[in-house]
Amino acid sequence: MGYTSVDRIPGIVAGVRHSFGRGVTRPEAWRRDQLERMRALLLERGADFEAALKQDLGKSGTESQLTEIGFLIAELDHALAHLGSWIRPRRVGVPLAVQPAAARVVREPLGVALVIAPWNYPLMLALSPVIGAIAAGNAVIVKPSELAPATGELIATVLPDVLDRRAVAVVTGGVPETTALLAERFDHIFYTGNGRVGRIVARAAAEHLTPVTLELGGKSPVYVDDTVPIAEAARRIAWAKFMNAGQTCIAPDYVLGSRAVLRRLGPALVEAIQELYGTATRENPDYGRIITDAQFARLTGHLGDGEALTGGEHDAGARWIAPTVLAGVSREAGVMQEEIFGPILPLVEVSDLDDALGFVVSRDKPLAAYVFSTDRAARDRWERETSSGALNFGIPALHLVAHDLPFGGVGESGMGAYHGERSFLTFSHEKAVLSKPLRPETLAATIMPPFTKNKEAL
Ligand code: NAD
Repeated sequence: MGYTSVDRIPGIVAGVRHSFGRGVTRPEAWRRDQLERMRALLLERGADFEAALKQDLGKSGTESQLTEIGFLIAELDHALAHLGSWIRPRRVGVPLAVQPAAARVVREPLGVALVIAPWNYPLMLALSPVIGAIAAGNAVIVKPSELAPATGELIATVLPDVLDRRAVAVVTGGVPETTALLAERFDHIFYTGNGRVGRIVARAAAEHLTPVTLELGGKSPVYVDDTVPIAEAARRIAWAKFMNAGQTCIAPDYVLGSRAVLRRLGPALVEAIQELYGTATRENPDYGRIITDAQFARLTGHLGDGEALTGGEHDAGARWIAPTVLAGVSREAGVMQEEIFGPILPLVEVSDLDDALGFVVSRDKPLAAYVFSTDRAARDRWERETSSGALNFGIPALHLVAHDLPFGGVGESGMGAYHGERSFLTFSHEKAVLSKPLRPETLAATIMPPFTKNKEAL
């Protein structure tokens, strides 16, 4: 299956817009039916999605179930359970001077949403925003990443068979196709990927005053002090870092700690990696692959930026890089200048908590920050003095699955958020509806001219 022809793209957008205009997507029953169909699709075609993810990223079936397919099913169940209450208008009060009147906040769909997805969780990150867009009553076009072609093609094949083609469309392709899409007018654009393209999306959106959600990346720091059990901390850090071979937007990027802490943490990380993946990770089906040759070349260029406590081995043909922990990494090293997005974990020494906080604050605001400390004062300082999309104590990455936590970045790591009700609101307009009877007429005596002294007093 090839890419969507660029010539067809304006017609596809016009088609779903026409359906939105006719009210196809508005009824709660339609939304519910689409979400249920998507749920059934994920259950019925689970094995095919697993196979596609294996082909694109070497993901194990279990990891795909946990982080992509199962994640989406949980998100769908949550949306289906709460849809009725999310849709309901909210009554609000009005000030005395406006009374008698009734005021409501009505959550209406925006119109046609565009979802542009990346390659690293190519199923989950394509469909999770679509759940929010449909729940909120929008028509939607989704553009999967061309860098995960097996998953992208499967989405493009099966989604239109199951969902309402009048209002939901899949466009496949790379830069030319996405550029053609971005020339069209949308009512919301939801982009997940890197900041360079995020800027292209924001510029194109500005042309039509289209609101955007930008889910970007960054270097998410980990801080470990001597108040926590090191082996447990190491296992959790290694789990979040080496899942999907480090190609996770909220993966720990690097670890900050004192010399004494890092001296203990280094060997504990080596042990944790062996416990999770064994020593022969090249042969281990639980351990993923690097997505492209270009990413492989970029990552292997960083392997010499510190002393490898474990890992460093790699194989270009298999696009395999062993889980690598680098000790003694300087703050100026190349690996500390860009988001790593691969299985390399630098350990960077700090003199104390102030030094760690100062280092993080001096850099771009990350998508997440992870603090391992039981010291109340230290935890408070991380919360008060740093800014990041999320801040987790004691566990990296798991905020992703808490439906009521907004998921998103700040500053360079993005704008806007989603998951659970936040997804619904992202794709909704909250319309103010005020209704005031014409009698009794109280306004003439208060806010209408002629203005006299006693009106000022009001
Ligand atoms: P990618 O290369 O797949 O690009 C993302 C999308 O942008 C694709 O659909 C692609 O076709 C499109 N695109 C690429 N170049 C374009 C251009 N010139 N014009 C228009 N569209 C274009 O994925 P990526 O950007 O390499 O993804 C990795 C990045 O995404 C990392 O920085 C990661 O941290 C971030 N990320 C963030 C989240 C999050 O939820 N915040 C999740 C996953 C990944």
